[in-house]
Amino acid sequence: MSIRDEIIVLREIQYKDYDKILHCFSKKYGKIQIMAKRVRKSHSENSSVSLTFNHSGVNLIKNKDMYILLDGDVINNYYKIQNHYKSYVYGSYTLEILNHILQENESNIKLFEMTIKLFQMLSVESEGIESLMAAYEIKLISLMGFRPLMDRCISCDVRDELCYLSVEEGGVICKSCAKTMLNLIKFDANMLYELDFLIRHKFEDIIKIEIHSKTIQFIHVYFMHHAGKDNFKSLKLLGGDYYE
Ligand SMILES: [Zn+2]
Repeated sequence: MSIRDEIIVLREIQYKDYDKILHCFSKKYGKIQIMAKRVRKSHSENSSVSLTFNHSGVNLIKNKDMYILLDGDVINNYYKIQNHYKSYVYGSYTLEILNHILQENESNIKLFEMTIKLFQMLSVESEGIESLMAAYEIKLISLMGFRPLMDRCISCDVRDELCYLSVEEGGVICKSCAKTMLNLIKFDANMLYELDFLIRHKFEDIIKIEIHSKTIQFIHVYFMHHAGKDNFKSLKLLGGDYYE
């Protein structure tokens, strides 16, 4: 019996003469692999379904550890992401993140929809992309259970004299607890406001305001620490422009 699902293609691997193995983010099953037969033949009806970044509705059948593509239709085509260098780099970074954090057979509909929304923004926007990516990182890491605690000291629960942020502890630290801790970042009220804003607001609102680079950098470090990965190949293409 066939399964109806939606996918985002994270990676395409050429296989044999005409086939591809697709690493996908599936709406129902999280990370899955799909065998897409004959999609590299000209006139294949499924060829656009098999392209990286595309969001498609598909019919699949399960065969052992893999799914086999029967047919599908592109719902959203994000080829425009590849027209701007910066959008392409951050789009590729998003695929790398998803490849790293998604688990097999673990659905995450909220993350699926958030990723589609991000791709829509990346395919039309060329300004303010750093803020969008910071928002995606902090929203994603919050979905994974690492939302930074910001209204009280993560160590002793007091609500005043909060002066520092700790990446490792996952939130704010009061002046007194800070005396015994290492690797703290001094913050100002604006930074906490921006963090909270990025977590709570939609991408459409975020693109309209300027987020300070200190906040963007903090989020990136915070994200990498809690995601458990710090060597994203795609970001090296930026040559240290944004995340250094
Ligand atoms: Zn404290």
